[in-house]
Order: sequence, then C-alpha cells, then structure tokens
Amino acid sequence: MNATPEKPAAKKAVAKKAAAKRTGAAVEQAPAKKTAAGKTTPAKRATAKKTTAKKTTAQKAAKTAAGKAPAKTAPARKPESRVAMVRRARRINRELAELYPYAHPELDFTNPFELLVATVLSAQTTDLRVNQTTPHLFAVCPTPEDMAAMPPEKLEELIRPTGFFRAKTKSLLGLSAALRDRFGGEVPGRLEDLVTLPGVGRKTANVVLGNAFGVPGITVDTHFGRLARRFGWTTAEDAEKVEADVAAIFPKSEWTMLSHRVVFHGRRVCHSRKPACGACAIAPLCPAYGEGETDPEKARKLLKYELGGQPGQRLKPPADYPGRPAPPMTPPVAAS
Ligand code: SF4
Repeated sequence: MNATPEKPAAKKAVAKKAAAKRTGAAVEQAPAKKTAAGKTTPAKRATAKKTTAKKTTAQKAAKTAAGKAPAKTAPARKPESRVAMVRRARRINRELAELYPYAHPELDFTNPFELLVATVLSAQTTDLRVNQTTPHLFAVCPTPEDMAAMPPEKLEELIRPTGFFRAKTKSLLGLSAALRDRFGGEVPGRLEDLVTLPGVGRKTANVVLGNAFGVPGITVDTHFGRLARRFGWTTAEDAEKVEADVAAIFPKSEWTMLSHRVVFHGRRVCHSRKPACGACAIAPLCPAYGEGETDPEKARKLLKYELGGQPGQRLKPPADYPGRPAPPMTPPVAAS
C-alpha cells in the first residue's frame, strides 16, 4: 500500500484532534475500544477476547520490534453535548458581532423591489457584479410595471453582465408581471407570497424579508452553509435543513444579523478552499481550525475586502462601513 495518499488525511486528523482539544468537541473513537467495552452476548465476549488477544500479540510484536513498550492510547474525550455546542455557537455569534459591527447585506438597494431584483440577479455571480449592473437597470426600469413592460431582448442586454441572463430575464419579467397583477405593484412582506414569484426561493425570500421588512430570516447561501458545517452547527448539505438546524440554536431576533455576520466571515476569512485559520479571531471556538492556513503571516495575506485593504462589494456601502466602496463597472454603462 502506498503511504503517500494517507498524509493529508493524517494531517487533517491531527488538526481535528487539536481543534477538539481547544473546543471540547468530540473526536471519533476507534471501534476497538467499544468492542472492549462490550457487555452481554457470548459472541460479543468471544470477539472481544479475540480482539484483546490479537492486540496483545500485536503489542508484543511492536515491543520487540521497537525495543520498548508501545505508546499508551490517549484517554477518550467526551463528545460535545448539545448544550455546550449551543453555548459555543452563541459565543461565535457574539464574537462575530464584535468583529463585524458593520455587517450588512452586500447588495445595493433603496427599496424592496430593488432588493428583490438584485437578489434574483445575484445567483451564480458576485454581489459586486450585481451592484455594478443594477444602477443602470433601475434607472431604466425603476418599478415592476416598467420592468414587466420591457422587451425581453432589451432586458437581457441590461442584465447580461450578471450571467445566465436569459433565465434571469424570464424570472424578472415573470416576477414583475406577478407583482403588478397580483400584488398591486408592491413586494409582499410574507414568505408564502414571495415564494410564489418566478425565480424566488426561500433564500431570496428570506433576504428580502430580513432586510426590507425587518422579518427575521436565516439566509443559507454557499458561505453560510459551509461555515455552519465547519462550526459544527449542522452536518446537512441541504439549505432548508441547514436553516432548520441553525434556527434551533439561535433566538429569532438574531437570525438576520447572524446571517450577515457569518457570510461576512466566510467572504473575508473562512474561504471555501483556503480558510485563513491563522488570522481568524474565532479560531479557539472552531472545530475546523487547521483546515486552512495556520501560519499567521501567510493567513493574513488571504484576508479579503476591508480586512485585506481592498474595496468592498457595494458601490454605496452604509456609512459605518470601514472599507472602501466598490468601483463602478468599467467601461461605464451609458444611461439611456
Ligand atoms: S478560518 Fe479556520 S478557524 Fe476560522 S472559522 Fe474558518 S475553519 Fe474555523
């Protein structure tokens, strides 16, 4: 068997154990231990005996080969209880609140309709690209009525920079017409109404509810899902399941801001491929510490946006944003 492919796994295991040591989180135990602790059936007892006998022989062999006794197994750690996990999760939220007191949605908007449209456009692209596209779009069609009346080809051209522009045009024309015909030209403030609009799922609906209507909502995008799993808040991949698991940990009043903080952290520090663990303020609370760069100097170079001295994603960020605004699209789109 080639030993080389096992190296990253071994490294990961060491990092996982180190993180568990810090957080008190569970580390998987070897099944052999459970066997030794087995109690009832004779068959089980026989297996346990065999295992012990095998172990003794192996230990003796190891002793002979190395000329000394094999290292003792580390004592078992208790798995993290639900109560401890919830406490740790809430502490992460508090620390993130201190780290990002200015956390906010990273789409530029001035009313619920603009936020709805911007959120639909943000699928499969960056908020920056959407923010660079919407000033011209909203200048041309500021209301659902204006947008619903747009010829599809013209709308496609306006939103082309955001990618998937044909499918997005279909959604925008459909949702604008639905707002005009079914909701009197206004964006509804209820989840059950929002999800009936073309191109609007739970994620988009929660963004709109949380940020335009003040209704608490958890927004599970790719960053939120990844961090929730790294933090040990959920093991689910499915966005709705992640939302339900996280909702059970935090009070409703925290949901919207928690979503912004976690997404901020995911975009700036806890990246998908190379998290900047060595420059992460919540590392002592994170069971996934060590998945990324742990050298502080190298990790600092991975930081993004205001933490990395770069412009943000919004062209018009809130007044308390400590970074620089994003630049407009180059070359600039001429208003018509
Ligand atoms: S950067 Fe590393 S330590 Fe920080 S939250 Fe992400 S995985 Fe955890």
